[in-house]
Order: sequence, then structure tokens, then C-alpha cells
Amino acid sequence: MDRSLFGSSVIDRWRLLDGGLSRRALVQSLAAGGLAAGSSGFLRLAPAVAAKEAVSSAAHRINVGEIDVLVLDDGIFEGPGNFFAVNAPPAALSDVLGPHKPEPTDTKQVAIHPLLVETGGQRVLLDTGYGALQPGAGKLLATLEAVGIAPEEIDAVLLTHMHPDHCGAVVDDRGGLVFPNARHFVNRVEYEYWWAEPSLDELTIPNEFKQFIRQVAKGVLTVLQGRIEQIAPGEEIAPGVTTVDARGHSPGHLAVEIASDGESLLHIVDAAHEPAIHLEHPDWFAAVDNWPAWTVATRNALFDRAADENLLVSTTHFPFPGVGRVTKDKIGWVWTDDRGEKPKHKTGKQGKKDNHGNQGN
Ligand SMILES: [Zn+2]
Repeated sequence: MDRSLFGSSVIDRWRLLDGGLSRRALVQSLAAGGLAAGSSGFLRLAPAVAAKEAVSSAAHRINVGEIDVLVLDDGIFEGPGNFFAVNAPPAALSDVLGPHKPEPTDTKQVAIHPLLVETGGQRVLLDTGYGALQPGAGKLLATLEAVGIAPEEIDAVLLTHMHPDHCGAVVDDRGGLVFPNARHFVNRVEYEYWWAEPSLDELTIPNEFKQFIRQVAKGVLTVLQGRIEQIAPGEEIAPGVTTVDARGHSPGHLAVEIASDGESLLHIVDAAHEPAIHLEHPDWFAAVDNWPAWTVATRNALFDRAADENLLVSTTHFPFPGVGRVTKDKIGWVWTDDRGEKPKHKTGKQGKKDNHGNQGN
């Protein structure tokens, strides 16, 4: 495993979890909304009120036939650029990270934006953001409040996968559910994978971060035990809202298709994290992609379909609102956001390989 990916200062920036923190403590922390995890603790949790300081009206509305979709700002997290492309040659990665050619290990900020789907009289939340687990994030409730929606009005929560930036706001600061009236859904494969507390040996991240991811997933599933509904890809969880098999990023990672009146939105979730990286180099994968070969195959399949059918595409982590369209070019794809702008960091393509090849293991 390549631990050199993370220098100590980068590890500090990830605010890694103390190694000795137990799952029980994590669940208690989820319940308490605060945890003194020490100076090196990842879980230097902000008080629950912190999210309200950043009250934002950052919500982007999309109409898909009769269905309304709101892209909701949850804030950001940070990581080294090569976190998102662990198999990229450093010089090539530096090229695509920006015009100033930052070092691959330089910190990159990544947006988080869950979706709210209003369909058939139901409000369906697609992921919950990071919650209080990440100081730069956890704005979801404030964003919902800004658009006049109370947590009690959410009818369903789909957890597309069990990474902390997607399930971190399931539990409130009293140990109850943030969305108390919602049905909660997760892919059966994803549930079983995280319930078994996987080693995550294949991930090129520090052990402390593996432990954190495992503990959040198991902690949230523990709180939801007996309530969460295990589903399969292809199931329609609300009118016009259908899950799509997108395994790779995690074993049970789901994309979502939203369709109404002949219009469709394909929400690819974490099948790609950064347009400048994963459109031009779809064979580059992230440090937290469990199954790199599947990650690349899923990404290619979703982009192929989006390009062939000219589908509107939404993402969790592209710069807000992360909505656009994908077109093919000779060696990959080009992302055009919903304001008709091209990505900022379009770069030269010399030396590129066939982007449709399957790489990784
Ligand atoms: Zn994510």
C-alpha cells in the first residue's frame, strides 16, 4: 500500500480519527453531537448550531418533467488532489488540477451537495451530507431551512452508499433521527458490506481514516437497525425515482435515475468526483474506491449512456451545483455545466491513452 500518498501535514488536514476510538464511542458521539477526540481527532465535532452560522440559500432547482429536484449545498471537505486519482502520473495530474499546476498532494476542496426530489407528493432526500463530522460541511439542514423545508417533512432518505459524506447527517445531536418521519433506504449489498466491518485493505488511505469510515457506517446502520429498508438496484423508491447499479466506488454504490414526462436526470453520485480529472481521465480512480476496475467500468457506462441519450447529469461532488451534460470526444468526455460553461481547467491531451480501457484491479 502506498502510504506516501499522505504526508503528515495532509493527514493533519484530514483531522484523522484517534485510533482508540471505539464504535460505541462513535455512536455516542453521533448521539451527543460532540466529541473531544483530542488534537489529532478527526471527530473534532462542531456543535450542532454551527451549521446554522452558514445559513445559505444555496439550492439549485431543476425541473424534470413533473418532478422538482433541488441540489442542496452541504459545504465542502478537503483532501490532497491525488486522493481522487491515486493511479495518475503526478505530472499529468498536476496538469489537470489547474492552470497553476499545483502539486498532486496540494489540498483540494470538494463540494458536497445532496439532492431533494419532490415527486408524487413525497420529498425524497438523496443522501444527507457530512453532518457534524466535518467542520467544513454539515450545512444541509440550514440549506433546507433556507428553502422552507423542515426535517420532519422529508418522507424518504436514500443512502446511495455508506461513506460519511453521504450518511453523516442521519443521526441528530440527541441520538434520534434527523429526518424522523422518513423511510430510510440502502442497497442490500452496501448494508451487508459495512455491517461486516470490512478491512478496507485495498484502499490507499491511512488506517485511522479506514477506521473512521467503518465506524461511521456501522454506527449509522446501528442507529437505523430495524428501520432501514434494504433495496436492490433497479427499484423505484418513489414515483419516477429509480436506483441504478453503480458498484465500484463502494460495493453497493447506487446511482439514481429521475424520470418524468419523457425527461430524465441521471444522478451519478460518486461515480466521478471531479470533472477536470474524471472526464478527461476516466481510468483514474480515488483512494476510497473499493473496486477500481468496477469504478472505471461503471463510470464509463454511465457517461456513455448520458452522452448517447443527452441526459442531464447530476453529481455529488462536482463544483456546485454539479449539474450538466456529457459529450464524447475522441478520447474521453467533455463536461458542460448547466449554465452552458465548459470546465475551467481544460488542458492539453497529449500522451493520453484510450480512456475507455479498463484499468485497475
Ligand atoms: Zn462522496
